[in-house]
Amino acid sequence: MIAEGSKPGILVVDDDILSLKVLNQILSAEYDVHTAQSGREALELAVSEKPDLILLDILMPDMSGFDVLVRLKDSAETQKVPVIFITANTSPRDEERGLTLGAADYITKPFQDFLIRARVRTQINNVKQRKEIELLSMTDDLTDIPNRRSFELRLEMEWTHAIREQAPIALLMIDLDNFKMYNDTYGHPQGDVLLKTVAATLVASTKRAADVAARIGGEEFVILLPSTDYAGALEIAENLRAAVAATVVATSGGGLTSATISIGVVCMRPNPGDAAVSFVEEADARLYRAKRAGRNRVCGDDCEPVDR
Ligand code: GH3
Ligand code: MG
Ligand code: MG
Repeated sequence: MIAEGSKPGILVVDDDILSLKVLNQILSAEYDVHTAQSGREALELAVSEKPDLILLDILMPDMSGFDVLVRLKDSAETQKVPVIFITANTSPRDEERGLTLGAADYITKPFQDFLIRARVRTQINNVKQRKEIELLSMTDDLTDIPNRRSFELRLEMEWTHAIREQAPIALLMIDLDNFKMYNDTYGHPQGDVLLKTVAATLVASTKRAADVAARIGGEEFVILLPSTDYAGALEIAENLRAAVAATVVATSGGGLTSATISIGVVCMRPNPGDAAVSFVEEADARLYRAKRAGRNRVCGDDCEPVDR
């Protein structure tokens, strides 16, 4: 990740210490440089340091750069990191092989520092653009919180994690009450203001780094709570319901409005073979019961089924 204000990270891999030194000198002003002297060390640092770019030698005693690249591309954790070969190997066939294996670029030794800097900059710019696009594709435009796609990916990850750790996982399915009427009364732009306000209240109600509040539809939201038991989830849901009900939203005309939400809560310790989709469906069913029972309420385990 290239965090705001921090230098992008580059991993330089070469068995020759002098080459490592020279490349470090060329790059360290602009980048956070880590070095590895073998393929094995490179694979370890690629995971632990999460570099944004890897400069990779080909001829190394333990493992060739080609083999390192294949291993990097094989692992979900490292496959997106661009790799530039820097090698004394000037054979066009080897260059072709490197590019075919997925290298982003191929530079032959001896090299010019200004060309190294220029080519590295190109790759780092690509990385920045890709990350911006990834973030955009995961974010809801209106509320600026994670969108449905982001929620689904996180759910899949956290579900697998909960099965492996035999840990509880909880889900709040949330829907604004009578939102159509709110829009009809105050206008669609004011409806948008309310959605943003509710999104901010959701985010404020999640305390742990792993919690995910997302907008998954027009006026539907979820909160995913990994490693949270039923009692904890119910408490968060009830606090959230009360917080939204207590929020006063100003209209552009100077008036004041308020709104409520209904919440379905489900918590499970999933077993191997359990499907996350049934978990989501159960949360949905409980949300439906909360609506049928009169709205502005939370339905969990002991919520009576309501006849449809
Ligand atoms: P219930 O309490 O049963 O959920 O009733 P409801 O009126 O909230 O539900 P319904 O599904 O009938 O209406 C949802 C409304 O949400 C209708 C739609 O126009 C509005 N809506 C969906 N997306 C947006 C949006 O992005 N902005 C605004 N302002 N309104 C939206
Ligand atoms: Mg070498
Ligand atoms: Mg609604």
